[in-house]
Amino acid sequence: MLLEGLGAAIRRLTPEQKMSLPVLEAKYAAMKAGFGGERQLDKVFENYSFPMKYRVLHDLSLTSSTHFQIDTLFITPSYGIIFEVKNIAGELKVVNNPPQLIRTLDNGEVKGFNSPITQVQSNCELLQDWFHSRDISLPVYGAVVLAYSKQRIELFDTTVPFLFPNAIPTYIRHLPTTTPLLDDAAFTRLTDEFIASHREFIPPPICSTYPTIRDKIIQGVACPSCGFLGMKKYMKGWRCTECDRTSIDAHKQAIREWFLLYGGKMMNKDCRDFLQIERQSATRILQSMDLRKEGENRNRTYSMFS
Ligand SMILES: [Zn+2]
Repeated sequence: MLLEGLGAAIRRLTPEQKMSLPVLEAKYAAMKAGFGGERQLDKVFENYSFPMKYRVLHDLSLTSSTHFQIDTLFITPSYGIIFEVKNIAGELKVVNNPPQLIRTLDNGEVKGFNSPITQVQSNCELLQDWFHSRDISLPVYGAVVLAYSKQRIELFDTTVPFLFPNAIPTYIRHLPTTTPLLDDAAFTRLTDEFIASHREFIPPPICSTYPTIRDKIIQGVACPSCGFLGMKKYMKGWRCTECDRTSIDAHKQAIREWFLLYGGKMMNKDCRDFLQIERQSATRILQSMDLRKEGENRNRTYSMFS
């Protein structure tokens, strides 16, 4: 969702405004790369199957002593493995005191990141707590996955394995196989509970992170064919004044982008201004979408993510 919101902001700013806030495109590129890293891991699990009973769960958002998020969890009736995917360009060095990941780019630029070892270890402990509070006793392993196998990395001696995606199947097969600690019913209950406790992480709206762009965002409905902002409403839908193509529901994307960009509650006037339409069309559109309504008549508000 954050990636989606950043993309919307980038599409709705003029080139000069984007230049005045380079962090926006940098963040977008970094997130997109991270997403690509997750896909590398997905491919491994799509292409291999393992002899034991297992599930692969993504983007778990859980609460034990504190709130924590797991990108990828490989869970079996005998153990769980947390995979922390790292996809950072440049030469990497992981140091221990203080724990940090130091990245050096080819141009000599040096930047520090949180240590992936600390992240994995902390998530393993939190997941153990989560198990204990449910009277489940399962070993939890953690590994750092480097998304691209050309990555150069310098490590100190650590018990946390660093793996390239293609080494994951071997790593899993070499873990000590114990007799299952959970029977089939308990394992199903556990995976169901993971899925039920998953909460979609709602990132703060882009304009509260980058307030300077709030009044610079170009409004209008984007043409799904050519990307032009400012489709015109006609009876049955939307017409692009650039490419002359039409769309029945281009407003849906625009409304979603409004919530990603500004967040909070939308009023009829917000919709009118953003979609550049009349009050009655705005009312019809807002009523037709699956939004949460509050208040009556002129005070009515709509929200998408809360
Ligand atoms: Zn168009």
